[in-house]
Amino acid sequence: MDFELDEESRAFADSVRRFARNKLAEGALRRAHESAYPWDVARMLAAQGLLGIPFAEADGGMGGTLLQAVIAIQEVALVCPRSDDIVQAGNFGPIRTFVEYATPGQKKRFLPDLLAGKTLMSLGMTEPDAGSAVTDLQTRAEMEGTVYVVNGSKIFSTHSPEANLFLIYVRYGPGVGGIGSVLVERGMPGFTIGKPSSFMSGEQWAELHFEGCRIPAENVLLGPGGFKKQISGFNVERLGNASRSLALGRYAFNLAREHALVRKQFGRPLCEFQGLQWKFAEMAVKLDSAQLLLYRAVASADKGLPAAYETAAAKLACNTAGWEAANEALQVMGGTGYSRDTLVEYCVRRTRGWMIAGGSLEMLKNRIAESIFDRRFDQRPG
Ligand SMILES: Cc1cc2nc3c(=O)[nH]c(=O)nc-3n(C[C@H](O)[C@H](O)[C@H](O)COP(=O)(O)OP(=O)(O)OC[C@H]3O[C@@H](n4cnc5c(N)ncnc54)[C@H](O)[C@@H]3O)c2cc1C
Repeated sequence: MDFELDEESRAFADSVRRFARNKLAEGALRRAHESAYPWDVARMLAAQGLLGIPFAEADGGMGGTLLQAVIAIQEVALVCPRSDDIVQAGNFGPIRTFVEYATPGQKKRFLPDLLAGKTLMSLGMTEPDAGSAVTDLQTRAEMEGTVYVVNGSKIFSTHSPEANLFLIYVRYGPGVGGIGSVLVERGMPGFTIGKPSSFMSGEQWAELHFEGCRIPAENVLLGPGGFKKQISGFNVERLGNASRSLALGRYAFNLAREHALVRKQFGRPLCEFQGLQWKFAEMAVKLDSAQLLLYRAVASADKGLPAAYETAAAKLACNTAGWEAANEALQVMGGTGYSRDTLVEYCVRRTRGWMIAGGSLEMLKNRIAESIFDRRFDQRPG
């Protein structure tokens, strides 16, 4: 068993770190407070080969590994937390499910611009009455001749105000087996995007409405029976979410550590107070243990998709450790940490959201319990 990254991975991490420090450090604070997607950075990251890292070269990707994508998301976040939205969107988000299941024709149409940082894809899974109980989704796709007519609505979709392509979970028929997905393009008749609303993090989302939206057969991603495949693809999105929680927790930890070394109160640097030393000790151990679970989940994927239990455990640990570290770092930095002049408060707000998004902590624990007892626990009343 080896707990160190191998030489190739270390070299990759060094190169991403150098790039991030040279190109992303300046403007990191400003970017975090702007709601618009940083398209200039998206193109820069694309040119640097940081989008499509684990995708096959034949698909326009870099032919790398999931581990490299995780390393990239962590190294970028440690310099510019906001730019990580781009690494997530280009490697872990709905694009990953798309690459796994799209037809060659669909890939040819959509991937070049997505991987060039010119367009964005958004995932529409959650509905007003289907959150944690996602299989209760009501958005229907009914066949009419050669097209599918979609009716329904979606909420909370990340990047929805700016995306051009939407991967939408739909119901072709009853039950879990009736669920699949379609690709909806901005501007398609019958598809409207509502007024943007803001999350506590500052991220914006807009309600997606489908009213008699006619989807050609070539825009079907997964037909009936596609739900399990989609959730397997979504496990990669969960690992991106987990990696970012951890990285933002570390970002805040690093800033608080520097602060505690130089800030003096009662004639001594803060790091000499045991009450604060213990906070750092706890943060460090939580971050390190979550990191190991994250690497285990990544290893479970090999060249394919990560295993469900390992993903759930990693996300639970990283979401918790990342948020707790960011929150404690803020406390250690006092009024400076609470101020918008540092990014610690930003890390608190972002990491908090990932405890809900992509499978809430409670739903992850439900999934972990199923593995422990080797049986399914239906959450619905009998
Ligand atoms: C930052 C952010 C980004 C998001 N991005 C997207 C996106 O891109 N696309 C998309 O489709 N959705 C997105 N979402 C929505 C997200 O997937 C849902 O918020 C999430 O699934 C929870 O659903 P809900 O908000 O309806 O809460 P509810 O399902 O109403 O749950 C409320 C609370 O009850 C708990 N709970 C519910 N059921 C159980 C149970 N059986 N056992 C124990 N506890 C339970 C939940 O954990 C939660 O704490 C995003 C959300 C956030 C916060």
